[in-house]
Amino acid sequence: MNQNRQPAGAPALRRRWHFLLWPALALLLLLGWWTYTVIGVRREMAHAEQAANKDAAAFAEAYEQYITRSLAQMDQVTMQLKQSWEQSGGTLDLALLRRDGMFTDSAFVDVTIYDATGRLRSSTHRHHGADSVQSQDFFTHHQNNNSTALSIAVPRDQTGTSQSTVQFSRRLDGPDDTFGGALVLTVQASYFTSFYSSRTLGRNGLVALLGDGGNLRLERHGASATGLEDSSLLRQRPALEPDEGVRMLDGEQGFRDDRTRIMAWHRSSAYPVVALVAMDSGEALAAAMEVRAARHRNALLATVLLLPLSLWAAVLARRTQRRKHEEEEVRRAYRTATESANDGFYMAAALRDADGEIVDFEVVDCNERGAYFYGMRREELIGKRLSDSDSGVFGSALFETYVAAMASGFYEDDRQMPEDNRLKISWGHRRLVRVGNGLAITLQDISERKAHEEDLERLANQDALTALPNRHWLNHFLPGALAGARARGTAMALLFIDLDEFKHVNDTQGHAAGDMLLRQAAARLKSLLRPGDRVVRFGGDEFIVLLDPAESDAQVAAVADRILKAFTRPFEVGEESQSVGASIGISLFPRDGEDPESLIKHGDIAMYSGKSEGKGQYRFFDPALYTRLKSRARLKHQLFEAIEGDQLQLYYQPRVDTRTGVLCSMEALVRWVHPELGLIPPLDFIPLAESSGLILQIGEIVMAKACAQLAAWQAKGLPLVPVSINVSPKQFAHGNIHRQLAVHLARHQVDASLLEVEITESAMMGEQDEIIAELAAIRDLGVKLHVDDFGTGYSSLSQLQKLRMDVLKVDKAFTSELCNSQEGRVFFQAIVSMAHALGMSVVAEGVETLEQLRALQELECNEVQGYYVARPMPPADIEVCMRRRLLFPNPTDAAQPALRALVRIGA
Ligand code: C2E
Ligand code: CA
Ligand code: CA
Repeated sequence: MNQNRQPAGAPALRRRWHFLLWPALALLLLLGWWTYTVIGVRREMAHAEQAANKDAAAFAEAYEQYITRSLAQMDQVTMQLKQSWEQSGGTLDLALLRRDGMFTDSAFVDVTIYDATGRLRSSTHRHHGADSVQSQDFFTHHQNNNSTALSIAVPRDQTGTSQSTVQFSRRLDGPDDTFGGALVLTVQASYFTSFYSSRTLGRNGLVALLGDGGNLRLERHGASATGLEDSSLLRQRPALEPDEGVRMLDGEQGFRDDRTRIMAWHRSSAYPVVALVAMDSGEALAAAMEVRAARHRNALLATVLLLPLSLWAAVLARRTQRRKHEEEEVRRAYRTATESANDGFYMAAALRDADGEIVDFEVVDCNERGAYFYGMRREELIGKRLSDSDSGVFGSALFETYVAAMASGFYEDDRQMPEDNRLKISWGHRRLVRVGNGLAITLQDISERKAHEEDLERLANQDALTALPNRHWLNHFLPGALAGARARGTAMALLFIDLDEFKHVNDTQGHAAGDMLLRQAAARLKSLLRPGDRVVRFGGDEFIVLLDPAESDAQVAAVADRILKAFTRPFEVGEESQSVGASIGISLFPRDGEDPESLIKHGDIAMYSGKSEGKGQYRFFDPALYTRLKSRARLKHQLFEAIEGDQLQLYYQPRVDTRTGVLCSMEALVRWVHPELGLIPPLDFIPLAESSGLILQIGEIVMAKACAQLAAWQAKGLPLVPVSINVSPKQFAHGNIHRQLAVHLARHQVDASLLEVEITESAMMGEQDEIIAELAAIRDLGVKLHVDDFGTGYSSLSQLQKLRMDVLKVDKAFTSELCNSQEGRVFFQAIVSMAHALGMSVVAEGVETLEQLRALQELECNEVQGYYVARPMPPADIEVCMRRRLLFPNPTDAAQPALRALVRIGA
């Protein structure tokens, strides 16, 4: 487990910060953007500045050339005037010259010539106050300086303020190079500053012409809004070294309007002046600044947009991450919980189409155990889809179950895994719980438990002795089989088989032998059937065979016949071979019953009725059998009532001495005196009493009544003879006859020698020791023992002697054979002589004719009983016999004529 979790921990930790990816990316992007913007803007600004500088320098140079040219023009004009003046000898009329078209340019304010005393000599314009200029600067300059070079000056009253005119003056030479006066050319200052153009220098541009001396300072600028139109913008004369250059001049130190400007200057090569050009840096760099602003705006916009967006993305990512984390937690919890519990655990995510319908599932997690069940490792199973791996093995069943679990939230069942050698599990208990958009599935390996259950089921469904399916199996199998037959519209046959003599084998040979026989019987049955047919051990010696389908009665009869034939062959049981036949009852679906219960019941009834009419046959169910059975049930109920209501009575049949015909004993025979049906003979109810267990009560009633009767006769003083009572094998099997006899004899104070017990041969077989003990106990009471129906069973005389039986009652079948064949007579003779040899007396039953009597007399049979002598009769009638003693019916048959009178009693 730890192995799995450890490596998973590190990526999980890394994943934890994944949600910051978006903001981080955004920050990085913005950083790049801003860097790019700032650098780009800076570069562009530098470019723009450079370009502006270059422009300014060019303008300054151009301005300087313009100035130099203009000054050269002034220089030349003044030079020519001087010459003309000097050549004219002081007669040159400037006004005339002007009229002739000279100095007409508006820039020329005035041209005046002064003589050496400063008096005006000639002028282009009329001077009003024609004062001497002797004291003026230009005049004193030329008076004291014999240079003829052009002097440039600004009228004194203008220095320091806005200068509107400029004076160009030149010395006039008198004869002998004496001072001859001065020539003054006054020009509009604007003439030199007209270079300024707002188109090239901007609205806040500036041109200035600065003389070296500091007094010349012409300026023109576009500071329209500043209110400084007329005054100078320059705060002071800036330092203009070297002769030409460009520099940025801070508004605070340089310009009165506080604007920063790019300033370029160029010194005139010919005159002591510097031309200066300045451009408002704001204006010069406006385009660049606009670009800069736009770029900043964009960057800002990007920042404003990207940052919240990325934060939002981060929040979303964090949220999904947390959800995933929670899911992972759930998974891990499940995995941890199930890993140790040996269960398989899976997380399957539902995959949906555009409409949200689930179309598939994907294993997103599982534990090693879970993967092992599918013959895979965890890594292999994770990521598998239901559709791609499992459809071959599972069909679409899994998908439907999963979808159902998604819908209901929970699903649980036991599931048999399909046959597939990849699977390591054959039965699983699965539990599906919906978790979010998926399922948490646990799969518990219950293969062993199921195998165990199957074992148990097999055991429960199988008969341990014969390995055939048992009754329990049949109860589960039949409903489905019938439904199948119903669906197919076919018939089915149920053969109810009962072994005829099994009980005898079990009783005489012991249970081990019985078991051996049953095993062989099962094998024999199985060998006779088609593969689709079934054999079931229904219980004891009962088997059921199912023929599915049953084609016809004839076919079913043929199968039944085959089975009967097979059972006529003896079975090898230990040393001996035993013959047991079988009886078969057949019920057909749907004719004889549509449900398992009635089919089995009707098979049983058919078998039973067949058996009661003779063993070793098969019989189809017939509704009449059923009504007979129902009447049996009714009879049983009535018999019960008969016991309660004292409807049972005893009849007595005399036994006489064969030779003399003298009454020597009687047999008590039970009768049912039914209030409506009248007298019912024992053969009509004793078998039912035996099969229902009522015989035990009836037996005791007989005992009690016989004793009571003897006591009554005794009380009446009648000559008593012993009375024999019949004891059923069922009673005998209970083993307490001697105790009951003792009780009743004692209660009625009857001598034990007056009571005798008749037991059939078959009752004496079986568990030898107990039989011997019971018989001995009866004998010890002083009660004699008769072997009833001798010759019909299998006992040998020596066996009977060993049991110390007193009387042999030879069955009436042998009596009737006596006169029919020589063998009959020989057989009877053998019995009589052997019985006598063994100390037993012999009674012949069912003597009906004189002939038989004669024969028996000859054979020296001790006693006879039969209709020839007397029929069974009620106590009142038998009392007559008791008194008469001699019972032979025909005097001629009798040995003594004296007995003739006593004939036909009870006939
Ligand atoms: P069982 O013990 O062999 O009794 C003799 C039966 O033969 C009697 O029939 C009797 O009426 C009949 N019988 C006597 N003489 C003749 C004859 O000459 N010819 C013919 N054909 N039959 C003769 P019953 O009374 O109907 O009894 C039938 C059987 O019922 C008895 O056979 C006995 O096995 C049984 N049974 C009768 N009473 C009792 C009883 O109290 N307890 C028990 N457990 N069984 C009884
Ligand atoms: Ca009898
Ligand atoms: Ca008998």
